[in-house]
Amino acid sequence: MNSTLKKIIIPLLLVVMLPAISYSVYELTSLNETEEMIEEIYVNQLNTVLNSINQYSDLVNAAWTSTLSVALENHQYDFTKLSKNELEPFLNLNRSIVQIVFVDNLDFQKYNLVNAGSEIGIEELKNIFQSNNEKIERLYRYIEEGYRKVEPLDSDNEKTQFLAVIISDERQQVITILEIDISTYIQETLRPVILEAAGEEFAIYCISNSDEYKFNFDDTVDGKQPDVKSPLWLFPKYELGILLKGRTLSGLIAERTYTNLIIIIIMNLIIVTGVVIIYRTIRKEIKLAQIKSDFVSNVSHELRTPLALISMFAETLEMGRVRSEEKRNEYYQIISQESNRLSRIVNSILSFSKIEAGKRTYNFSFTDINKIVKQIYDNYKFHLENEGYKFIFEAEDNLPEINADSEALSEAIINLIDNAAKYSNDTKEIMLKTYQKNQNIFLEITDKGIGISKEDKEKIFDKFFRVSTGLVHNTKGTGLGLTIVKHVIDAHDAEIELDSKVNEGSTFRIFFKSVKT
Ligand code: ADP
Repeated sequence: MNSTLKKIIIPLLLVVMLPAISYSVYELTSLNETEEMIEEIYVNQLNTVLNSINQYSDLVNAAWTSTLSVALENHQYDFTKLSKNELEPFLNLNRSIVQIVFVDNLDFQKYNLVNAGSEIGIEELKNIFQSNNEKIERLYRYIEEGYRKVEPLDSDNEKTQFLAVIISDERQQVITILEIDISTYIQETLRPVILEAAGEEFAIYCISNSDEYKFNFDDTVDGKQPDVKSPLWLFPKYELGILLKGRTLSGLIAERTYTNLIIIIIMNLIIVTGVVIIYRTIRKEIKLAQIKSDFVSNVSHELRTPLALISMFAETLEMGRVRSEEKRNEYYQIISQESNRLSRIVNSILSFSKIEAGKRTYNFSFTDINKIVKQIYDNYKFHLENEGYKFIFEAEDNLPEINADSEALSEAIINLIDNAAKYSNDTKEIMLKTYQKNQNIFLEITDKGIGISKEDKEKIFDKFFRVSTGLVHNTKGTGLGLTIVKHVIDAHDAEIELDSKVNEGSTFRIFFKSVKT
């Protein structure tokens, strides 16, 4: 890597890659944290949904308690006078209540049993009452503080739940125990709230701790594990479970993590591709700048040599120092040759700059390729043979005409002949050949010169390109000749290919597809 490239690429890496890498590392490390946070927020939301169901139960309890306290007030808290008949409408409305027990105090001396289908008799009730003494005492304390709490009592029974509440006025206190049939309560009282809270997205179910009793309102989630569980306040032996329909919470989080990861990877790939493209463009531009500066020095050198020769021989002739006619003719010939060379260089530079500016235009007409090549052959034959070249033209007769701009095509062919001569060494042989194969017309320019290596083959048509090793170093040129050739050939909708072997020679083959039929 040269130093200019280094100067550009290091800041580029620092400015683009470093922030991208740091950001990605930060994102990757914080991905877990973020997902955990999202999970926590989500779990909280699910808990809120479950809490709303528990709160609804509390409201139901409050309503029951106030109905019962009105009934008790009607008898000045003499609960023994309260009959089942009187409570019938209330019991009909709340079918989950299977028994109401009114008790005067912790000793269970005075009581009134209102049985609406319970299987539990007075003895068992007393036992439950005794074993929950502490809880009931606590309810008394709450009442003193002005808080009427409904307390679930402990028992072995998983089918029904006993709830205790103290109903009181200023003078009297009545312990009221409600026995609730859990199944009926969940199916009739909670069901609408559960369905409402679950909505379209979630499924909520109730299950007993022993797994024996389960109340599921959505068959689609049968057998799936809940995302969040929460106890049912009213029934401590049961809990509520909530889960996302379709996918699980952990699946959802994993999907998010996966998507984020993919986005980070794609983002990095784009940045890396961008940097590689920028790097390549810069490298190409730097190379081009270097080639351009080589071109300037090449051209200066190319122009200086003929100019120096012309001025030297012209001055010698001017001074009249050349006596012999023969020498004078030789000098005139050199001056003419060198000025031709000069005009060829200038013409090719002009031609190239027209191409670069997109201003090169072509005038096409159907022409005989042999006529064009013959004209060039005749013009160059004398000069090349003089220089020691064997110059051959093999033409196939009666070729169909091709659609061509004769002038531009001649320029391209001359450039190829010029190169064939320039890059020949000991075997000075140049052959031009035209022929037809299938529907195409071919023109070949072959030399037995230094040849072109495989790697250079790709680049010789690039602007300013010159092979930088071996003999070519000593051969003059601008690196524009083949660029012009390629442009002309492309404009003719023709193609050019190269067969070449180092030290054996090269054949440039042009084939024209646009043929008069
Ligand atoms: P130049 O002015 O250098 O001749 P060109 O564009 O005509 O520029 O050619 C590009 C390069 O291709 C040359 O510098 C030379 O290395 C190589 N080249 C072109 N023609 C031939 C050939 N007939 N034999 C060997 N090398 C060639």
